[in-house]
Amino acid sequence: MTEGETDVNLNYDVIVVGAGPAGLAAATVCARAGLETIVIERGRKPGTKNVMGGVLYTRPTAQVFGEFWKDAPLERCVIEQNAWILTEDSAIKLGYRSPQFAEDVPNSYTVLRVKVDEYFAQKATEAGALIINETKVDEVLRLLLLRESTVS
Ligand SMILES: Cc1cc2nc3c(=O)[nH]c(=O)nc-3n(C[C@H](O)[C@H](O)[C@H](O)COP(=O)(O)OP(=O)(O)OC[C@H]3O[C@@H](n4cnc5c(N)ncnc54)[C@H](O)[C@@H]3O)c2cc1C
Repeated sequence: MTEGETDVNLNYDVIVVGAGPAGLAAATVCARAGLETIVIERGRKPGTKNVMGGVLYTRPTAQVFGEFWKDAPLERCVIEQNAWILTEDSAIKLGYRSPQFAEDVPNSYTVLRVKVDEYFAQKATEAGALIINETKVDEVLRLLLLRESTVS
């Protein structure tokens, strides 16, 4: 290797922009499938540029990350959920509440993104993906590979 050269692999099958839940789920699935995968995140680390917290739903999350409730940094399980239909001066509220939703494997959990995104990032890394932080993607270059054709 000569001066100025690096040993960083610049050839990837998959380049994911953004280490949010979607990007990290995609990167985890791709890396597990054996694809060389890199994730580029503009934040200092995954979770630092996102909405502060929210509700994480168990079923879709488990499809990618397995039994995450056993070791993920979750805050609390959700036992009550409501929806409101509003008019200017009134509201109809529909909802459910039961301690049973905390039993066995709950339907959803409250989470802080700064913690849970880092957990997803760890899973993506364990699967083989490389995560680069503090790097903003400004442009996507589309390379069109034209197959040589013999038109007569
Ligand atoms: C106020 C609010 C409350 C919400 N509450 C919930 C909730 O309780 N439960 C729920 O399931 N969903 C909730 N959502 C929706 C949820 O936030 C999104 O569906 C989810 O964050 C989408 O994930 P994502 O990975 O696609 O994008 P994001 O979470 O937005 O992640 C995108 C990532 O890409 C990075 N990025 C963006 N541009 C670039 C770039 N050019 N270069 C490099 N990195 C880049 C960002 O820094 C970020 O880390 C809420 C949304 C809002 C706005």
